[in-house]
Amino acid sequence: MHNNDLSKRDLEVIWHPYTQMQTAPAPIGIVRGAGALLFDEQDQEYIDATSSWWVNIHGHAHPYIAQQIAAQAMQLEHCIFAGYTHPPAVSLAERLLKLIGGKQGKVFYSDNGSTAVEVALKMALQYWDNKGQAKRNILAFKNAYHGDTFGAMSVSGRSVFTRVFDDLLFDVHFLDVPTADNLPSLIQSIEDIGAESIAAFIFEPLLQGSGGMIMYDAQTFAQLLKWCTSREILLIADEVMTGFGRTGTNFAMESIGVPPDMICLSKGLTGGTMALGVTTTTNEIYNAFLSNDKLKTLFHGHSFTANPIACTAALASLDLFLDPACEENRKRIHTLHSNFIEELRNFPIVKKPRILGTIVAFEIVTANADGYTNSLADQVHTFFRKKRIMLRPLGNTLYILPPYCITNEQLATIYGGIKEFLTLVS
Ligand SMILES: *Cc1c(COP(=O)(O)O)cnc(C)c1O
Repeated sequence: MHNNDLSKRDLEVIWHPYTQMQTAPAPIGIVRGAGALLFDEQDQEYIDATSSWWVNIHGHAHPYIAQQIAAQAMQLEHCIFAGYTHPPAVSLAERLLKLIGGKQGKVFYSDNGSTAVEVALKMALQYWDNKGQAKRNILAFKNAYHGDTFGAMSVSGRSVFTRVFDDLLFDVHFLDVPTADNLPSLIQSIEDIGAESIAAFIFEPLLQGSGGMIMYDAQTFAQLLKWCTSREILLIADEVMTGFGRTGTNFAMESIGVPPDMICLSKGLTGGTMALGVTTTTNEIYNAFLSNDKLKTLFHGHSFTANPIACTAALASLDLFLDPACEENRKRIHTLHSNFIEELRNFPIVKKPRILGTIVAFEIVTANADGYTNSLADQVHTFFRKKRIMLRPLGNTLYILPPYCITNEQLATIYGGIKEFLTLVS
């Protein structure tokens, strides 16, 4: 066994996501996981403080999910999903719709968060087209993030991520995020566009994740959605990151009280084990695609749509999610985060410490820290890599978003590491 063998071989053949390959440190080879821990080639442990890009909720290599996956792989690994169906897809749709409630009546499968968003956008635009109404405008929030494919990029805020492609993205009307007193101006800006021309409004409920863990005013948000509904603007809730307990309730929209027309899910859906995307919608929207005219069909699908192994992983993850122990864990994390927030207030360089469900976030404001490409991010990487705590800041925003099974001791180690770092850069 050679030390660091994996990372050397990697650099010969692999191009990593969101990575400047010339300047980034060599990747750390991870060979196994258990609970909130990942282990490298020397069997050194790392604490997964951000749930491996926000997907993991029950811990790594969870034996129950792993067993279900293995059994399904021996039974049926994949099957075309047009003209055919299978038990995991049907059971998962039944259970998801029951759990989500509200107006949701149908499940459309794809294989990641971006595709779940693409499907929702196409459903919304074609819904109006099928009904013979020319609504082509789309609303989104400034600074939103809905994925990296072209449609998903179009409805995301323009940024360093989209800069090279901005001229090729379709036009979207961007609204300010809700504050305690901006409801009238939000409504006015929609009236200025022409509410009747708007097909849909896509948003990350309560929390803009990639945009910097921005938490916005829930009350104004709820009123805005209610107004949109009264003006027949379809609501697309992108719960790719907020779904499955992240913000406290099972889904963020539960706490808003305005039922959306579509919901996008991925990340935590399979407990973070397999790639799967879901777009749920109402029977009203579904019915607008029913016709003897083939042109009213939703012409969309992916090779791995509703993959049986992925659906089985999602069913297993749901079993664990619905166990009362899972909610207790989320409450435990929330309480510890709340105490940590109070400690953060002692650091003058910490700005806007905030908490929602199992997420805690804050900005570090130093003289030259600004935006995603700053050097503070590099300092954070280096410091926490040495500490073997996996943290990945968004610009100068630092956040913890752990698997729900993380232990109190592991959380204490993360909090301690952050306080040490803050002392160092203060
Ligand atoms: C991550 C994310 C996406 C994109 O999901 P991928 O699986 O990475 O394509 C879409 N919307 C939100 C809110 C996300 O956080």
